[in-house]
Amino acid sequence: LGVEDAEYVVSLIRTIPDFPKPGIHFRDFTPAMTDARGLQLMLKALERTLPVPADQIDLIAGLEARGFLLGPALAAHLGKGFVPVRKAGKLPPETIKESYELEYGTASIEIETAAVHNGQRVLIVDDLIATGGTAAAAAKLIESAGGKVAGFSFVMELQGLDGRAALGDHPVASLTVMP
Ligand code: AMP
Repeated sequence: LGVEDAEYVVSLIRTIPDFPKPGIHFRDFTPAMTDARGLQLMLKALERTLPVPADQIDLIAGLEARGFLLGPALAAHLGKGFVPVRKAGKLPPETIKESYELEYGTASIEIETAAVHNGQRVLIVDDLIATGGTAAAAAKLIESAGGKVAGFSFVMELQGLDGRAALGDHPVASLTVMP
């Protein structure tokens, strides 16, 4: 997997200005999934940049909604299981809930309590890290459920928001940093 392969994946990422509201540059990685070569190279690039060796990961957790596109594909690619971290109110009981601050107000996410077995090492996956608030809340859920956070993998990382600082000492990988 060459540098040009990772560059190819990044070249497929689309930016939509002023979506979903004015001033936000929405970074859309779905064209990299639609493109057959892009999808394969994206999974290989994520595998190559894993924050910990694959044999130190037992389970992959994906964050609703775009972590649901990426997570199961990466899990199957690595031969791991997948657990969804959902927005509150979608999962049948019994769940654990974690709330976190948004720019305006709060959001809540949930995980099925029994989905993570004691001591399992969980890689948390999403398309993008901005402030890190969502990923940090997911890490708390994994720990509350009895798991250990192995690390985080993102396709994109937004510059200048210091999202990594929200994730404590856990190792973090991303394929590209964007303004
Ligand atoms: P944060 O909790 O601030 O790190 O925000 C990360 C979550 O919001 C991820 O689930 C992203 O999919 C989404 N997100 C935040 N900013 C953007 C952006 N500029 N483009 C696309 N998705 C974004």
